[in-house]
Amino acid sequence: MSGKSTLVATKLKNFRETFIRQLPSKLDQIREAHAALGQAASAKDGLDRLHRCLHSLRGVSANFGLDALSDIAAEGERLAKEARKGEAGPETAWGPLLAELVGRLEREAARTDASQLMDLQALEIVAAAETFHEMERKVVYLCEDDSIQRLNLATQIGCFGFEVVSFGELDQFRTAIRNGHPDIIVMDLVYPDLPAGGADIMREVQADLEREIPTVFISSQSSLPSRLAALRAGSSAYFVKPINITDLCTTLHALTTREAPEPYRIMVVDDDPLLTEMTTLVLQDAGMDTRTLNDPLQALPLLFEFKPDLILMDMYMPDCNGMELAKAIRQIDAYFSIPIIFLSAETDADAQFEARRMGGDEFLVKPIKPDHLISTVTVLAERMKIIRSFMVRDSMTGLFNYAATKDHLDIAIKQAQRQRENVCFAMIDLDRFKEINDNYGHEAGDRVLMALARLLRQRLRKSDVVGRTGGEEFAVVLPTCTLQDAGHLLQQLLESFATIGFPAGDTSFYSTFSCGVASLDKYDTAEKLYKAADEALYVAKQEGRNRVVAVGYEEVK
Ligand code: GH3
Ligand code: MG
Ligand code: MG
Repeated sequence: MSGKSTLVATKLKNFRETFIRQLPSKLDQIREAHAALGQAASAKDGLDRLHRCLHSLRGVSANFGLDALSDIAAEGERLAKEARKGEAGPETAWGPLLAELVGRLEREAARTDASQLMDLQALEIVAAAETFHEMERKVVYLCEDDSIQRLNLATQIGCFGFEVVSFGELDQFRTAIRNGHPDIIVMDLVYPDLPAGGADIMREVQADLEREIPTVFISSQSSLPSRLAALRAGSSAYFVKPINITDLCTTLHALTTREAPEPYRIMVVDDDPLLTEMTTLVLQDAGMDTRTLNDPLQALPLLFEFKPDLILMDMYMPDCNGMELAKAIRQIDAYFSIPIIFLSAETDADAQFEARRMGGDEFLVKPIKPDHLISTVTVLAERMKIIRSFMVRDSMTGLFNYAATKDHLDIAIKQAQRQRENVCFAMIDLDRFKEINDNYGHEAGDRVLMALARLLRQRLRKSDVVGRTGGEEFAVVLPTCTLQDAGHLLQQLLESFATIGFPAGDTSFYSTFSCGVASLDKYDTAEKLYKAADEALYVAKQEGRNRVVAVGYEEVK
């Protein structure tokens, strides 16, 4: 067997093993949960547990192309959810329905022939068919003639939260693209008897499109002629096989999300309302977010609430002049380096010098030309944003660092308490990570860290906070989320992460993590929450790793 096919064989073996490991225990859990319905402390607890088990079975069986099984599980999941909410009528109504569904599940599972499980055709259609937390899934068309590579890529790209539709033949792809437009295309370059078949078809297809679809080429060829062929067919990126899946998905993400940069936040302090209005109009017109203040004595509350990137300040104001205010602001640690621009009719060079000495970064003379104002503000605000990102972001993964994560946890807790909502906090630690470094090298270890960071960022909501709190430790803050939902979400992430293959020389390896989750409704301060999640993580490690432990109920499966 060549190196490459050994690699593929290992991956397939891994798929099969994961599945065979999971299916019977998932079925057992459902059987038990259903049998225990009447004995649970409350009907709701019993239904909770059953709902969780069915949800998990739906996911895992969809992942393996067992649509019939997944559909029955989905039906059961819906019914359990309705029953839990009291929307399914009395137990005499939903009880028999549920019993019938569990029976159907058993029969369907018994029909499932283990040897057919690996039927590639069935598998390749489904790539992590789960729906995640309010996430808009971008559609990827994948065209690759090698069925095993196609399956493997589709599954792994799917794990990063994309919806993958895959094609084995160029003709199929051509028909599909006439009828639907994906967000991005991943195109293999070489096809049997067609050394640049992927490039040829893309030239043909793009010519007919109103708007070009970003295309990433993949190929075993790394030569310049191959790359040129792809480039001339409009490629946005080119990956040589074996493909580093994290890099590929990073590129897919970048090409499909045009996130508008956050606008600069500018605070304007001037005692003259008319002038403030004019200044803010100019800044808003340039896309900036502004807040104004006519009374300098109110500056601190606004500063804390608005968290500006830059302050524009009049020099001469009653009660407190600009220089005093600048000095007072800079005495607050968090604002030591905030850019401050003075606005003044002052043309005297000495006074300007004095203003700088007192902490102003720039000095603009009124009346200010709009262009001049905008460019000065942009340069300084951008610099501030970068400096701030160094202070709060981890340089390898771009996630929040430990201090920033803790700050965000505090903020989320305060907000939740104000709005009477919940927050969950999860701590994640990679399993036996030292061994990965020892066996495959530190660089391979770094790739694992980056893959996990990307997966977390991609699959969680914008309002969730993801931090790297230590070397191989991560933390997630999930606002407005129940413990149960948090547990599920992390379990899904855990399962996805475990299927990401990391190439290392001739082989590839997989990595897992352990996770502890805790919920604000049980632990009502940041300290208690942190400690509870940490202890849950410890339990997850003790119980054998590669699992999520939520404090409040047993292991989430
Ligand atoms: P456990 O399952 O109990 O968590 O075992 P572990 O090996 O993951 O835990 P341990 O704390 O013993 O080892 C953590 C390892 O993580 C040791 C350290 O070399 C590695 N590590 C920490 N930061 C980085 C990093 O930035 N890059 C890489 N490649 N490795 C790192
Ligand atoms: Mg550790
Ligand atoms: Mg570890």
